[in-house]
Order: sequence, then structure tokens, then C-alpha cells
Amino acid sequence: MTILFLKENAKTIAKFDFSILANFFTNHWKSLLGLLILTLIVTFIIQRLIILKKKNKPVDTPFFGFVTNSNDRLLQDNYSKFKVFWAVRTMNGNIHIDYVPLCPNCKTELKEKITFWNKFKWNCINCDFSIKQKDSQKNIRENVQTIAEGEMRRAGQGR
Ligand SMILES: [Zn+2]
Repeated sequence: MTILFLKENAKTIAKFDFSILANFFTNHWKSLLGLLILTLIVTFIIQRLIILKKKNKPVDTPFFGFVTNSNDRLLQDNYSKFKVFWAVRTMNGNIHIDYVPLCPNCKTELKEKITFWNKFKWNCINCDFSIKQKDSQKNIRENVQTIAEGEMRRAGQGR
């Protein structure tokens, strides 16, 4: 049936001017390419925003399950590293850096948000302090812990 149709209409099909289509692409390829790129960019932005919304959702503070005893005490809450303050305490005889950094202006715990370009922004909800960091609070805290342990060792009080 199809073959028959093609045979009967061969002349008509042959007469169809495909150059119209070719001309359209020749004249409008820039617009088509632009439209394609724009679509890709918009898709990328929307996806990124959706992921960020999920990542920045407030979560319950995780429970770390530390057992403290009566000898544990806060040594200082203005240990200045990475342009913010950290609370340093002894815990079970070891040095321990608290998990959340403190605002260098008012010592309020800093909130963390991941920015569009995958940087970490810490901001104070009490004053206007905010800072961009290259890594997360979790990873930077680990570095601060390591630095503090080194300082204790140098002071001759390490493990
Ligand atoms: Zn503050």
C-alpha cells in the first residue's frame, strides 16, 4: 500500500522543494543553536537549584554520643582558626573542638549553606557576619581539631 502510494505520487514527491527546509536551517541556525544552548543552561540552573534546596534543608543536629564526665571543661570559646571562633574543651582527657563554629563577633553558632557554585557560606543569625569557605564545617572542624592537637603536643600536653 505504501509502495503503491509512493509510486503514484513519485512525481509529486520529487517536485517537493527540500531546499525550503535547507534554507530554513541556513538562515536560522544561529537562532536554533542559541535556543538549544539557552535550554541547556536553564535546565542546568533549575536542576542545581533543586539540588541546593534539598541540601540546604535544615536537619536535626546529629547526636554524636559523647560521654562527658565531670572533669570535662570548656578551655576557650574564642579559638581563632579559619577566620571564625571555635570552642575548645577537654573531653575524656583529650582535646575536643566543638562541631559548630562560632561567630567571631558575637559567639553565636554559625549556620552553613551551600552556594550555587558549590562553596560553603557560614552566616550568623544574630549579627551580619558571614563568610565563604572552601570546605564544609565538618571538614574544616576536623582540620581545626588536628591543628589544636598539634599545638597541645608542642606545649607538651598532648597524648
Ligand atoms: Zn554574630
